[in-house]
Amino acid sequence: MSTAWRIGVDSHRCIGTSICAGTAPEHFRMVGGRSAPLADVVVPAEVVLDAAESCPVEAITVRDATDDRLIAPEE
Ligand code: SF4
Repeated sequence: MSTAWRIGVDSHRCIGTSICAGTAPEHFRMVGGRSAPLADVVVPAEVVLDAAESCPVEAITVRDATDDRLIAPEE
């Protein structure tokens, strides 16, 4: 089990729906109409996966901070 995840948001891909910030406001906020993670490395939490899976353009990636394995979105 991972002990830390790294959140990435591709600001070029993000279309500013704010779904992620609505789903996980403790992890994402909107900056200039685009999503940005509040912290790059977080304690694993289901809501982070929910946000990544709910992004309509798959702009959010969640990776294991130790080995860089892709955790979400599922391929
Ligand atoms: S859900 Fe995706 S497209 Fe919408 S604000 Fe978040 S990162 Fe951007």
